Amino acid sequence: MEHLLKEDLINFEALLEKAKLQGLDYLQHLPKRKTSTVVQSITNANLNEEGIGGLETLAQFKEKWESQIVGASGPRYLGYVVGGTTPASIMGDWLASIYDQNPQTVSSQGDVSVQIEHATIQLMLDLFQLPNDFLGGFVSGATMSNFTCLGVARQWIGKERGLDFAKDGIKGDLNILSAVPHSSALKCLSMLGIGSKNYTLIETIKGNREAIDIQDLRRKIESLNGAPFILISSAGTVNTADFDDFKAIAELKVNHNFWWHIDGAFGGFAACSPKYDHLTEGWDKADSITVDCHKWLNVPYDSAVFFVRKQHSKLQMETFQNSNAPYLGDPSENFNYLNFLPENSRRLRALPAWFSLTAYGKKGYRYIVENAVDMAQLFSNFIEETEALELLAPTRLNNVCFTLKSDASQARVYAFLDTLNKSKLVYMTPTKYQNSFGIRASFVNWRTNAADIDIITSEILKATAHI
Ligand SMILES: *Cc1c(COP(=O)(O)O)cnc(C)c1O
Repeated sequence: MEHLLKEDLINFEALLEKAKLQGLDYLQHLPKRKTSTVVQSITNANLNEEGIGGLETLAQFKEKWESQIVGASGPRYLGYVVGGTTPASIMGDWLASIYDQNPQTVSSQGDVSVQIEHATIQLMLDLFQLPNDFLGGFVSGATMSNFTCLGVARQWIGKERGLDFAKDGIKGDLNILSAVPHSSALKCLSMLGIGSKNYTLIETIKGNREAIDIQDLRRKIESLNGAPFILISSAGTVNTADFDDFKAIAELKVNHNFWWHIDGAFGGFAACSPKYDHLTEGWDKADSITVDCHKWLNVPYDSAVFFVRKQHSKLQMETFQNSNAPYLGDPSENFNYLNFLPENSRRLRALPAWFSLTAYGKKGYRYIVENAVDMAQLFSNFIEETEALELLAPTRLNNVCFTLKSDASQARVYAFLDTLNKSKLVYMTPTKYQNSFGIRASFVNWRTNAADIDIITSEILKATAHI
């Protein structure tokens, strides 16, 4: 064995111990960790002929990079929709790396990793009050979950016309309807060969809403004259966390022929709390659902799930079938994840989720969701009470969308945000909502508490005084 590999094998325990201490140092000081940094561009790096071994590598990482790593998993990182990491999820994540399984198949001679994944999916269906007739699996993020679900939807629409798009490619135009699709759903239309521009916009409910206007949806459906279509709906839009009326959409499904997809990347978590689960009522009738785990489930990147109704499993298999290799067997007889999702080999992503769900249960997740919404409300109240600021939309759940009251030009909003983020105590990202430039703060991190809101509001007041 090469001598450095051999040395590290002998010193494995010491190496892991050092890495653990390094990680603990980050976690224990996370609330104080700066939320942004100025990075230097890297100069050309060459790989040395001779390595330096694990211990020296850790030292080099610490010297070169560690101090520049920001507290993205901390309590005041409110940009995009960024979750944190519960203690148990980190335990599961470490072990997923250590066991290094490749969950594929449930054969009697195989490994147990697919059982772990199936069991985790059942826990998640239970958490979200969804029935067991969904097939679920883990992918890298909500983008890939949307891709998986919309890929099956594409195959469904072909079948409705007697075509097999997976085998023969797309023929003809596909009817896709959506009101406020997430940018990743449009990216999926592009990746699926449908085209990111080839969808029909449904109107939203009048007056500061991002939810589908059901009357307009009816009109759009009628104009299709019975042609099958795909509806991409939202459980939580990113700007204002608005929800489509799932009960009304479920009713439309009785008389109309469409594939109903719900992007509930973060908003699906409303189902965890009796206070907010009315928002997801009726979503159990969807054909497919996307939920992110590295957001509100607070497990490390990268992790999301798809749920596709089991009645569509044949279509799902046709879409992702990878059974040309003789050693993989007949896909309809031996379940194998590689025939149901984009990736072939994959890590045991279910393990961090299984650890966290098992460790904290329904009550833990109810707390995580309700606390985040409480924090968003506290912050939202502050915006309403602050002379220089205003909400761009009412705060419906966990995302607060606001702007500067007088002169909200792009330059001024960006200058304000720049000053705020330079505090390194809070991080937010810009947005555009109904033609206004604004800022969005998304609360999904389990650690955020009232003391954090005090720090955030005080930094905001400083930044408003500065511009
Ligand atoms: C974050 C998000 C996505 C994309 O998720 P990734 O995990 O970044 O791939 C899709 N839809 C919604 C509503 C989101 O909030």
